[in-house]
Amino acid sequence: MRRIKCPNCGTYNENVDYCTNCNTLINFKKRREIEFKKSEQKRAHNEQQDDEKSFQWIEKYKNHKFLLVRIVAYAIYSIWAAVMAIGTFIAWLFTMIAA
Ligand SMILES: [Zn+2]
Repeated sequence: MRRIKCPNCGTYNENVDYCTNCNTLINFKKRREIEFKKSEQKRAHNEQQDDEKSFQWIEKYKNHKFLLVRIVAYAIYSIWAAVMAIGTFIAWLFTMIAA
């Protein structure tokens, strides 16, 4: 039998995931799983937003009224694209070596 003390109200609960008194989740394994899932979702969401933000940033400067800014934006974009391509190539190379 598992006796778990509720961290919220201090009630002792037996063989339940939720506190019988205040309904707090007291199954720590389950709680960790839920928190992990939440943080994973949050991370995926943030990464997506970051990608969109950097893309919008480069798009904005590529249409800038000053030619110099556009050139710099294109240069950064080209370097970024090249780095991405090299990264993909290295990843592919490692896959080939491993296989
Ligand atoms: Zn409780």
